[in-house]
Amino acid sequence: MDVAVIGGSVAGLQAALTLGRARRQVVVFDDGRARNRAASHVHNFLGAEQPAPDELLAVGRRQLATYDVAVRDGRVDDVEVVDDGFVAGGEHVRAVVLATGLRDELPDVPGVADRWGQSVVACPHCHGWEVRDQPLVQLGMRGAPERSVARAVLLSRWSDDVTLCTDGDELTAAQRDQLDRAGVAVRTERVEEVRAGSVALTGADLPARRVFVVVRQHQQSDLAERLGCQVTDGAVVTDEGGRTTMPGIYAVGTTASPALLAIGAAGHASTAAVAVHADLLELDLSSRR
Ligand SMILES: Cc1cc2nc3c(=O)[nH]c(=O)nc-3n(C[C@H](O)[C@H](O)[C@H](O)COP(=O)(O)OP(=O)(O)OC[C@H]3O[C@@H](n4cnc5c(N)ncnc54)[C@H](O)[C@@H]3O)c2cc1C
Repeated sequence: MDVAVIGGSVAGLQAALTLGRARRQVVVFDDGRARNRAASHVHNFLGAEQPAPDELLAVGRRQLATYDVAVRDGRVDDVEVVDDGFVAGGEHVRAVVLATGLRDELPDVPGVADRWGQSVVACPHCHGWEVRDQPLVQLGMRGAPERSVARAVLLSRWSDDVTLCTDGDELTAAQRDQLDRAGVAVRTERVEEVRAGSVALTGADLPARRVFVVVRQHQQSDLAERLGCQVTDGAVVTDEGGRTTMPGIYAVGTTASPALLAIGAAGHASTAAVAVHADLLELDLSSRR
């Protein structure tokens, strides 16, 4: 077996597709926790007409059936480094591609986790178009108002009815001025609950067709760190070919570049898979000397 891909969402499956088409023998492991799994549709993905996240992945898996690529459902808890490669999920491989993605830490406000992916989302580029020109709320992450100010200003491109709820945080005069210039209203009361169609503040109810939140992102798996790869600011450090700081281990998609949208994660993975193939080819040739 040439390559184990750990994580079989858009990035992992795209890496496997590029490697399979390069006649590499690949195994993909996935335990079904794609980051957008709570969402009803994948938007902003050229060539795919707003599929459900699991539909998009099912099409990807079907595409892989043409090639020497096995996809296995299940979690990989450990990768063993051996003399001539790695053992991952019981398979002896020459290279490992980490496509394990991110986990979102949500604001601790009642109603947010229940509605996540539906009426509560994070990214206007993914979910702004569908609610353009409607009343929108940007909910801050308590204690980090600068991030929510920037997000509220961004959101004002999709609607002129945007309110930033700081959930108790006070803003500076410069932040208020910035929001004012973007036409964003501000409420600094504590947020009691996010409900269907509204946000309950202390003493008031604010209409909200959709609530955009600021999240903290964490690596979904600690495999990269345990394998000795450098991880900085929550991202596995790689070169442009997805090579981590550990030889033979690659990181693709949001594992390496957290801000990527789905199509960007797939594109990143494809580029990295080309590098994996080139590195294996070099090893193939050097062993024939
Ligand atoms: C609510 C929400 C909605 C979104 N909507 C959109 C949208 O409409 N359009 C868009 O472009 N982007 C959207 N995104 C962003 C999109 O989800 C990401 O860009 C994309 O999922 C990144 O893909 P990835 O393959 O890098 O990681 P992920 O999708 O996070 O996939 C990682 C995979 O690795 C698996 N995994 C992790 N650890 C292990 C392990 N140890 N063993 C086996 N498997 C493992 C997980 O189960 C998961 O399937 C949305 C994000 C969220 C949170």
